[in-house]
Amino acid sequence: MPLRELNDPALIGVGMTSQRTRDRLVGRLKEAGIVDERVLETLRQEPRHLFLDEALSHRAYEDSSLPIGHGQTLSQPWMVARMTELVLAEAPERVLEIGTGSGYQTLILSRLVPRVFSLERIAALKERAAERLRRLSAYNVTLRLADGGHGWRDAESFDVILLTACASELPSALLGQLAEGGVLIAPLEDDSGQQWLTRVHRQGQHFEYKRLEPVHFVPLLQGVIR
Ligand code: SAH
Repeated sequence: MPLRELNDPALIGVGMTSQRTRDRLVGRLKEAGIVDERVLETLRQEPRHLFLDEALSHRAYEDSSLPIGHGQTLSQPWMVARMTELVLAEAPERVLEIGTGSGYQTLILSRLVPRVFSLERIAALKERAAERLRRLSAYNVTLRLADGGHGWRDAESFDVILLTACASELPSALLGQLAEGGVLIAPLEDDSGQQWLTRVHRQGQHFEYKRLEPVHFVPLLQGVIR
């Protein structure tokens, strides 16, 4: 390995051990019902440990969600895989993600979808995610600091909108940015406080909701933290 790579702190942990633990993770995801080979292969290749603080990076290939600061979490790999499968099922050109967080889900999407837009309301998280994504050459991603509840200002519509934070009701501005025939995927809370991964399909002015499975996400919050 060239000296530059050995000295690069971002690459510490990449190597045989890391690759084996990633292979193991992908095996577990398959057992847990993830079938899309493109998704499995992308999770096998991409470095989740670079999206965590160094103190936690040794846990990066466990199938669990992990803290990223500011009370937020990096989603569990199974959840990232499942949501990516649902996104790819639509063969979208343009995807809008609400809740960039660490940027890991954003990276996975960027490897599989032509154009990815992602909104985050906490400036510090957005900046860190931007740096990681630049480093990993995810050039088809555009990040913006904003409250995702208002959608992407000045944008046309999106084929798929993905929320990585849970709402009790979907903001109408977001639904309005779904293209005709488009799909929104989001954790939604029911009256008893149970969260459900939900698929919303736009047909004209009609939105058809379908509950998929129980999930657990941090809440969708309002406003921007600079
Ligand atoms: N996919 C991310 C998930 C991070 S947790 C990852 O795996 O790292 C959800 C993220 O949504 C948090 O970073 C939180 O700050 C962000 N968020 C919550 N409400 C938001 C809103 N209204 N607009 C934009 N981002 C929001």
